Amino acid sequence: MDGIPKDILVNCKKCSSPLILDLDLSLMKPPVDEKFCEENPDIIIIPTTQPNEPLEYQEVSSHDNVDYGTIMGDASDLSRKIRVAEEIFNYISGKSTSDHPMCQDCANTVIQNQEKLLNQTKSEIESLEIYLSTLEIKPITQDNSDEYSKLEEEEQSLLAELKNLQLENDQLDREIAVENAILESKNIEYDKIVMNYNTKKQILWDLEDDIRSLNQRKKYLSFLAERLKRTNLLNVLFPIWHEDHFATINGFRVGKLPETPVEWPEINAGLGQCVLLLQNILRKMEMTLENYKLVPCGNSSYIESLKDKKKYSLFKTSGYRILADKFDYALIAYLDCLNQVIVRIENHDTNFKFPYRIFDKHKIDEPGGPGYSIKLSGNSDENWTKAMKFMLINLKWITTWMVKASFKQYCDSIREQSLS
Ligand SMILES: [Zn+2]
Repeated sequence: MDGIPKDILVNCKKCSSPLILDLDLSLMKPPVDEKFCEENPDIIIIPTTQPNEPLEYQEVSSHDNVDYGTIMGDASDLSRKIRVAEEIFNYISGKSTSDHPMCQDCANTVIQNQEKLLNQTKSEIESLEIYLSTLEIKPITQDNSDEYSKLEEEEQSLLAELKNLQLENDQLDREIAVENAILESKNIEYDKIVMNYNTKKQILWDLEDDIRSLNQRKKYLSFLAERLKRTNLLNVLFPIWHEDHFATINGFRVGKLPETPVEWPEINAGLGQCVLLLQNILRKMEMTLENYKLVPCGNSSYIESLKDKKKYSLFKTSGYRILADKFDYALIAYLDCLNQVIVRIENHDTNFKFPYRIFDKHKIDEPGGPGYSIKLSGNSDENWTKAMKFMLINLKWITTWMVKASFKQYCDSIREQSLS
C-alpha cells in the first residue's frame, strides 16, 4: 500500500457508518493550508458538515480505540491526506443538497431520489410547455379585429347601460326617499288615529259604565216608586191611632172625658185634620160631595152648605155656648160627607164593609148597636168620645181601602166614565 492508510477517521453523514476512503484520494493535491499542518503536526483535521464553516479541530488521543499503527507513523502525511479528502467532500457537499461523505447504500438512495425528482421535474416542464403553447398570442386577423371592435362596442353599450342604471338607481333612491317621507307622515297619522280611537273607546267604556250605573239606579228608583205606589200616603200624612180611650189623628186627641179633660184647641186641631184628610180622599176618588163643601183651615176649619151658603164651624171655643148648635150641625154635616164616601165605596166594592154604620144622620155604631150620637150638646162625654172614635176608625178604613187593588179598579172605572 505504500504507506497509505487503509482507515481514515470518517463516517457516513447519513447513516454514520465508518467509511474507508478510496486510495485514489491520496493522490490528489491538497488545496489546504499546509503551513498550518506543518505547524501543528499532532492535530488531525476532521471535515464539518458545512463546507463554508470554519474547520473543527480535534486532537487525536493515544487512548482512542482506533489502531492507528502505521497511520500514526507520519502524522503530517496523514493530516494532509485527510485534508485532501475533506476538501473533496466539502466540494461535493457544496454542489448538492446532501452532505458528504456518505456510504454506497446512502449514495444509491440519494441517486434514486434525485432520479425520481428529475423525472417529476421533467414532467412538470412538459406540462408547462403544453400550457404555454396554448397561451401563445394569436396573430391579429380580420376576424379578431371585428371581434375586438364588437367587444369594444359591447363594452361601450354596457357602460352606457351602467350609466343609465346608475341614473335610474339615483331616481329610485329619490323616489324611495319621497315614499319614506310619505310613509313617515302616514305612520304619524296612523298613530294619531289609533290614539283617537283609544280615547273614543275609553269614552265609550265610560259611557257604558254610566249606562249600567243608570240602569241600576233606574231599577232601584222603579223599586222605590213601586213601593211608594203601595204606600198609603194618607196613612203616613194623617196617622190615625188611639191613646187610652181617645182616637187620635196626627197625635191630636178627638174627644174628652171627665177624668181626662182635653183642651179644645187640640180637639179643634184634630177635627181640622179630619176635614183635610176627607178632602184629600175626595180628590183622590175624584168625588164631589152633595150639599156640602169642606173648607180645611187648621184648627178653625168649617163646612159650607151649598144650599144656603151657611158656614158651620167645626171648632169650638170654650165659654161660647151659643155656638154649640152650630158646632153640632158642623159635626152632622161632616158625618154626612163621610157617609157619602162610605156609601160610594160600599156600592163599588160590595165585599168591603165598614165596621161602623152611620144612621139617623147623627148616629154611628156597630151594626145592630143603639148608636152613639156625635152631637156634643145633650150628650155625655163618654158617648161623644166613643162616637168620635168610631168616626175616625171609619176614616182610617177608607184610607186602608184606598191602598187595595179595588181602589185602582175604582179609579179605572172613574176614568172610563169620564172618557165616555
Ligand atoms: Zn451511509
